[in-house]
Amino acid sequence: MIKRWKMKKSLGIYIHIPFCVRKCAYCDFCSFPRAGEHTKGAYAQEISRRIADASREAREYRVDTVYFGGGTPSLMSARDVERMLGEIFRGFDVDGGAEITLECNPATADRAYFEAIRRMGVNRLSMGLQSASDKELKLLGRIHTAEDFIRTFGDARRAGFDNISADLMYGIPEQTQESLKSSIDTLVGLSPEHISAYGLMIEEGTDFYRRRHTLDVADDDEQYEMYMLCTHRLAEAGYKKYEISNFSRDGKRSRHNTRYWLGEEYLGFGVAAHSYFGGRRYGNSRDMEAFLRGEDITEESYVLDSAERLREYVMLRLRLAEGIDTLEYERIAGKGFFEAFPTVRQWISAGLMKQSGEHVSFTDRGFFVSNAILSEMLDFE
Ligand code: SF4
Repeated sequence: MIKRWKMKKSLGIYIHIPFCVRKCAYCDFCSFPRAGEHTKGAYAQEISRRIADASREAREYRVDTVYFGGGTPSLMSARDVERMLGEIFRGFDVDGGAEITLECNPATADRAYFEAIRRMGVNRLSMGLQSASDKELKLLGRIHTAEDFIRTFGDARRAGFDNISADLMYGIPEQTQESLKSSIDTLVGLSPEHISAYGLMIEEGTDFYRRRHTLDVADDDEQYEMYMLCTHRLAEAGYKKYEISNFSRDGKRSRHNTRYWLGEEYLGFGVAAHSYFGGRRYGNSRDMEAFLRGEDITEESYVLDSAERLREYVMLRLRLAEGIDTLEYERIAGKGFFEAFPTVRQWISAGLMKQSGEHVSFTDRGFFVSNAILSEMLDFE
């Protein structure tokens, strides 16, 4: 008898670890400072239980990316990481070449820790540097110095990690072009495979928000200069921008994050985690106590209609340097891209977007103002 081979669908798994040593001044992520070992252990156990439950609904999927994000996942003991990862391997069909990333902060992990998690299958790290100026790090409320980052990065390399991403920040209060340049150079000197560069946003509810009137932050023009400085200096060092804030060496894009921009499916576990699975998007609340009691903490759940799916497709694809494939758009939408978005021609003339063959994308200048352009474009539809 000939057995029919069915191709499995691709799936990503995101695990939110909401623990940090202390809260940074700009942070509005879901993270709880100073959690004890008991809470962290209970959290890992509850995550594992939910992974086991969810895996029964995902038999026709193969997992090819796993991402431990936070918070500070490296505050979880190696045993707790093993418990969660082990449950993923037990419950899901995990591809042999899966990308498995763990975010870590400097001074929260050492070589022995990295060796332990690498043995379990973690093969990519994402580290928060933000700045190589200790003065700026202090202002941001980070727990580490630049020296801590360099040491932790070296420990990760010595433990065998050959795929490391690092985060940089621009627009930090009191940051100058010179200090940003020196942060970029310090980072490039370490030669990570991937770099994310984010502009500081002052979000409500943060310490920076409360002090916003007294902070010396860059205005839009200065932020733009800084964004271009990152773009050019990283390009010179061999890092290609493939998404509005992400740069990588060849073949080292974040496969997990690319999944979000391509609208592929993923399951999120933990407080404040989001999922996109079976056509439905849903998100968890930040209620840690209810989560630990085993309650359903889904707070939003919806299926996008076809018009919303299309808007989301345009928004996400335009985050990528390749931009939109207009032929693909026409196939999906049943309408030409320029017909649906006539203002795009004006953005192209203004040098904010460009067309290359069938693809339309933002220019570097356009990326910087892409939020405003997208809201105008998508309201037009
Ligand atoms: S380490 Fe990251 S998640 Fe934790 S408080 Fe700082 S910015 Fe927020």
